[in-house]
Amino acid sequence: MSLREKFLPKTAEGKECVLLCSSTYHMLKADKLLQKEGIQGILVPAPRGIGSACTTAIKFKETDRSRVEELINQYGISWEAIHLLEKKDRKISWTDVYKFSLRENFKNVLRKLEDEVELTKEDIVILLATQDKEEMEALFLAADRVREECVGDEVDVRGVIEFSNFCRKDCLYCGVRKSKKYLPRYRMTEDEIMEQVKNMETMGLRTVALQSGEDPWYTTEKIVTIIKRIRKETQLTVTLSVGERSKEDYERFFEAGSNAYLLKIESANRGLFQTLHPDDDYDLRKKHTIWLRQSGYLVGSGNMVGLPGQTLEHLAEDILFLKEYAIHMVSIGPFLPARGTPFVGQPAGDLFLTLRVIAVARLVCQNIFMPATTAIATLHPKGQTMALTSGTNVIMLIMTPEKLQSGYQIYDNKNSVDLEFAIKSIKESGRKFPAHIRPEYLEMQGLKI
Ligand code: SAH
Repeated sequence: MSLREKFLPKTAEGKECVLLCSSTYHMLKADKLLQKEGIQGILVPAPRGIGSACTTAIKFKETDRSRVEELINQYGISWEAIHLLEKKDRKISWTDVYKFSLRENFKNVLRKLEDEVELTKEDIVILLATQDKEEMEALFLAADRVREECVGDEVDVRGVIEFSNFCRKDCLYCGVRKSKKYLPRYRMTEDEIMEQVKNMETMGLRTVALQSGEDPWYTTEKIVTIIKRIRKETQLTVTLSVGERSKEDYERFFEAGSNAYLLKIESANRGLFQTLHPDDDYDLRKKHTIWLRQSGYLVGSGNMVGLPGQTLEHLAEDILFLKEYAIHMVSIGPFLPARGTPFVGQPAGDLFLTLRVIAVARLVCQNIFMPATTAIATLHPKGQTMALTSGTNVIMLIMTPEKLQSGYQIYDNKNSVDLEFAIKSIKESGRKFPAHIRPEYLEMQGLKI
């Protein structure tokens, strides 16, 4: 028996299906219904080749298929399809991935990925541990192939407005942590935020991420009002990244019109998570992640690479967490030291280790959105370009008003990724510029793509 056959699922009982509904509303309704009826189902990003990257599906056992169909019809759930999860042929061959000189065990893990076999923690560590140039090339190429198959060649350019640098927490790594001194704090008003959102619309951006420290000054009502105004006055979709809030808040923000929420696990290893976050509880963080999904959001998570005390095993746990929690948007960046924090003297995360983590996350999670982060663009002048050829497909422009940007240095010397920088990275990586950016705007700015 070849290695490939050995790893393929053999028994019918092991097979799984996914249900695609016609809207988030129906998908959540179906999820609740299956739960109530005792059918094991899990919300997941639509698998490769089924639906677009930001579709959610419900995965369940094939043996439950007829029961699921019966239930969703009986309860009037509007659904599109049920697919049997089979090993699909790759649209793009991986032959040249194996042309590099690879050690047998490294090659075997890549073959498992090609054959859709789930990786163990040990497998992931093998990929992350390599220092060999050829093995890295093979890994990045495979990740780039999966990226192409799942989300295409176009880079999605989005914008982030960092609207407040007040924070009630003291995360050890963060440059806007509560007890950091000599940091002028700012809060943007609703009108100031709207002005930036409208500028983004003029540029042709389609998604705004609203990010801040954990700042309770922005009450539920205030945030709801801002979301509603953006939805009413512009065409943009709203992603939130404002830290931990209550379950009710998540629901209210979703109802108000935001459809995605970024709350990073930062480290999925319990011990490391607890040492980094004096104000947080590991189990609660995971619970928040579940609440977000249950509220209907596309959920974003991710980690930092190169944190003090972090091992390759910890990073493998991060990747398995992203898979297990069916995360839709994965943000991975190097740890960077920040002045005025306990970690100021610590070395920054390694560029190539960060790229390996990005590549493996793409290979394991597949149909997801992944930014080439500001942090990797800060670590190395070509970091963003390299991330784009190792599995990522999104760039976040910093749309915080220039005069405030110095106040949102979550790490030192943060790159103020603007459209010009993004164009450079997209060009260097040989990827497609997004069609949604307005040519008139580019011309006005003297930018060429
Ligand atoms: N308060 C919000 C937003 C946090 S800032 C929240 O808690 O979700 C956004 C991200 O920046 C964090 O999730 C973290 O992953 C990253 N970050 C913070 N400090 C960093 C540092 N020193 N180096 C690298 N990334 C950092």
